[in-house]
Amino acid sequence: MASSSSPKEPSFRESVDIMFNRAVALMGLPPGLEEKIRVCNATYTVRFGVRLRGDIHTFVGYRSVHSEHMEPVKGGIRYAGNVDQDEVEALAALMTYKCALVEAPFGGSKGGLCIDPREWDEHELEMITRRFAYELAKRDLIHPSQNVPAPDMGTGEREMAWIADQYRRMNTTDINSAACVTGKPPNAGGIAGRVEATGRGVQYALQEFFRHPEDIAAAGLKGTLKDKRIIVQGLGNVGFHAAKFLSEEDGAKITGIIERDGALRDDTGLDVEAVRAWIAENGGVKGYDEALYLEEGSALLEEECDILIPAALEGVINLSNADRVKAPLIIEAANGPVTAGADEILRDKGCVIIPDMYANAGGVTVSYFEWVKNLSHIRFGRMQRRAEESRHQLVVDELERLSSDTGIGWELSPDFKEKYLRGAGELELVRSGLDDTMRKAYQDMRKVWHSRDDVTDLRTAAYLVSIGKVADSYKAKGL
Ligand code: GLU
Repeated sequence: MASSSSPKEPSFRESVDIMFNRAVALMGLPPGLEEKIRVCNATYTVRFGVRLRGDIHTFVGYRSVHSEHMEPVKGGIRYAGNVDQDEVEALAALMTYKCALVEAPFGGSKGGLCIDPREWDEHELEMITRRFAYELAKRDLIHPSQNVPAPDMGTGEREMAWIADQYRRMNTTDINSAACVTGKPPNAGGIAGRVEATGRGVQYALQEFFRHPEDIAAAGLKGTLKDKRIIVQGLGNVGFHAAKFLSEEDGAKITGIIERDGALRDDTGLDVEAVRAWIAENGGVKGYDEALYLEEGSALLEEECDILIPAALEGVINLSNADRVKAPLIIEAANGPVTAGADEILRDKGCVIIPDMYANAGGVTVSYFEWVKNLSHIRFGRMQRRAEESRHQLVVDELERLSSDTGIGWELSPDFKEKYLRGAGELELVRSGLDDTMRKAYQDMRKVWHSRDDVTDLRTAAYLVSIGKVADSYKAKGL
């Protein structure tokens, strides 16, 4: 976290707690329950050795369980050189609130391994991942009904496939073993649309925001997403997909991309695919000559734009730069990109922040679909599709009969027929389920935002909705 830049900046976990406290102060929950919800239930630390390149290397990993008001608990596993207990606990807490907000029936958890994945070859990463998975699974910290990890920064489908296989080897008689982890490749028990789900969720969140004139006006903006100038920080999985969908499908312009080694700027709009391909080939944005290159990338966080999408690390907008951030609307695609202090500064300036626990909930939402699919042992929509197609065929036949019987003589276009007759497949179902989830959760938040005088921002509204749900569940079930 960028907290080192200022002595006044709290740690990531403290920052989450400050935001939580701000919201819970408006709720009147019994103090004991407040405390129970805020604290992290347990964090397991493991140190394990793997023999690599002729030496034994020791790795440090964590799996934190924040709240078990619902089980399994859910949350990704992050691979990064600076992972520590504070960060993993903050992320686990955010998972609790995120799942509650989008009504994914899970408690919150998160894992991390202190490793820079770029320093190791694929087969080495496989050995390390399998060993980490073994250490967690033997303590039920990977388990279909108790704790279900997923990808996060530095991990993806490949690591999830190794974890699933490791669990299966350790539990050969568990028919539900595929549900021990989500974010697997489609050919290994995964679900269509999971890779891009978080970025897709960011797009759906913005689409929903721009359906509400009152909210658009609160940010001092006008109109629709079309031609909005967007700066994206981090072109990893989440930032890339969000930028790609918003530019290709909603007509927004990606006017800036910030990466590790600098930033690119083009007021007419960057070609997101081309930049991504350049990064994949060259390891950074430097040298990409279709746009202006700035060595001091973070300066672009302070540039004029309509929407700022921090999509990488926590703490990038902090006490040292918040007062210079000009974006009227920030959507937190990353977890915790705005520190508690920066949040206050931005709120005072009238900036609208669509908070992380909502904005990046697309990942866990589609993870939920994957987990349900694994437990049901059937492809999403497989039972319904034929039935739906035959019903649609009846409609098409009837329309065509009417056309010829009445002599009107119009014809259904082949394109319409093709699209209408094809029942929804797994990807369509995942997308519509995700869209529906993002719309509903936004509406829940905005209702609180606009109906209470003491709630002046979406983050507090999000906390109120989610803490309320967690509290209800503790009240109903007991601790
Ligand atoms: N790591 C993602 C997140 O922070 C996904 C978690 C999941 O799918 O369980 O939300």
